[in-house]
Amino acid sequence: MMDDEPIRFRNYYRCDDCDVEWSDDWSCCCDDECPSCGRDYTPTHSEDLEEETF
Ligand SMILES: [Zn+2]
Repeated sequence: MMDDEPIRFRNYYRCDDCDVEWSDDWSCCCDDECPSCGRDYTPTHSEDLEEETF
């Protein structure tokens, strides 16, 4: 049984079309939508947040 999965990674994204960069926290390295055009992007890179405990 799984409760809420802990936030594990901070993923960074970039949309070249909108010239926009954003980041989001996830329990895994997954795609996110551009906040401007809604297209799916894979992370340009990810930070491990293991040091932060929730
Ligand atoms: Zn975009």
